[in-house]
Amino acid sequence: MDSSHVARNEEEIFDALYDSALAVLDSTPQLDTEQKTRALYFSHNLCTCEECQKECGAHINKKGQIRISKKFFHSTLNQKTPSPIGLLELMYTIFYQVLHGIFPELNEETIIEKTEQAWKSGMTELAKEKLNRNS
Ligand SMILES: [Zn+2]
Repeated sequence: MDSSHVARNEEEIFDALYDSALAVLDSTPQLDTEQKTRALYFSHNLCTCEECQKECGAHINKKGQIRISKKFFHSTLNQKTPSPIGLLELMYTIFYQVLHGIFPELNEETIIEKTEQAWKSGMTELAKEKLNRNS
């Protein structure tokens, strides 16, 4: 049993993942400063609304609050596959919703595309920073 999971509750894990998703977002060269700044002002919660109970996903409401299904979060954290993959999946889900908040005018397909690009480039930049710091 991985004790680090036991020591932290789901809200804390969620906050940590949210911060990590923002760090990736902050590193991507695909977004400008204004867009990155906007991302800092979204509130975020684990959600138990009907939709989140049923469809097990995430959404962003009209107030720009990012809602990640508590059920989805819980089941992803507790799935049998090694947890780092589950954590990344959750981070990506958060990241995707944040992009939704930054670009409310864009359609789903464009957001998916933007999310993939921003995620990849953000991760690459973060890895580079880390390597530089260590060398
Ligand atoms: Zn919900």
